[in-house]
Amino acid sequence: MSKYVTVQITRKDQGPPDDTPGEGIRRCSACGEPLTDEELERSIGVCPHCDYHFPLSAPERVAQLADPGSWEEVGGDIRPVDPLDFFDTRAYVDRLGEAQLETGLSEALLSGLCALAGRPVALGVLDFRFLGGSMGSVVGERFFRLVEAAAAEAAPLVVVCSSGGARMQEGVLSLMQMAKTVVALDLLAARGLPYVAVLAHPTTGGVLASFATLADVIVAEPGALLCFAGPRIVEQTIREKLPPEFGRAEENLANGQLDMVVHRRDLKETLDRLLSLLEGGVRCSLEPLRQDTEVVPRGGGPLAQAAARVKDLALSSRGWLFGRNS
Ligand SMILES: [Zn+2]
Repeated sequence: MSKYVTVQITRKDQGPPDDTPGEGIRRCSACGEPLTDEELERSIGVCPHCDYHFPLSAPERVAQLADPGSWEEVGGDIRPVDPLDFFDTRAYVDRLGEAQLETGLSEALLSGLCALAGRPVALGVLDFRFLGGSMGSVVGERFFRLVEAAAAEAAPLVVVCSSGGARMQEGVLSLMQMAKTVVALDLLAARGLPYVAVLAHPTTGGVLASFATLADVIVAEPGALLCFAGPRIVEQTIREKLPPEFGRAEENLANGQLDMVVHRRDLKETLDRLLSLLEGGVRCSLEPLRQDTEVVPRGGGPLAQAAARVKDLALSSRGWLFGRNS
């Protein structure tokens, strides 16, 4: 077996210029129907013909989820630097500057405190337009500060992900952010505060392998690609054709990787309902999953207690998995 795998990446064709339907109108990427900007704004970026979910920018997502006038940014003062003096085909500082100019954002994670259907929430949103929503040092630090803000306000955490993974221009420093965000979530769990992740198209790599999939409840948008390595890379590595549904949200749901797939028009209402359940809006009694498992009440609603029970079970299995007595 060879030591290296050669991966060939062909850029997607942007389409011929004469295919552009005109000013203020674009074609749906899935069904090809022409759509006006007003139509798309009304449908929160969902094609009214085929339900294709267009990617949303972080400010658009905040506008969809946060109650008007409630947004207060957290960690916006932290700005990216180029600690490795990194240069691939272009200098990292140039890529950063261009992304900032194009998106109007200072980094890929927009984080803040807001109200969601009247409930205080710490909300983080990754913007795929900013270097593929990749996680560098600033994304990790903003995520940590957002969790600290959630803990200080005793507010639940909601994070909307769309990311290509760790930011390669920051090398090992970006990989460290995987550990950092996981530690931050431990802090949240220790406070008994719920965390809901919303996975939008695409959520891959180091983001999928860290905070995106560690939530108490994992929600995804229809058709979103959610996998560690993209289908093209996997196909070239294993030299096999993959089925078209590979890594899609619906397949992840069928395989038990997700809790639900939710249409964008129902997202805010679903988050409101989930947070209400997790925070103890509904009372019910729970039986232990195993006879020898002691139920430790931690407050919160049935979902929070069930999540705590699963964590206890997972921790209790560590002793016998590694042959140690706990
Ligand atoms: Zn369509």
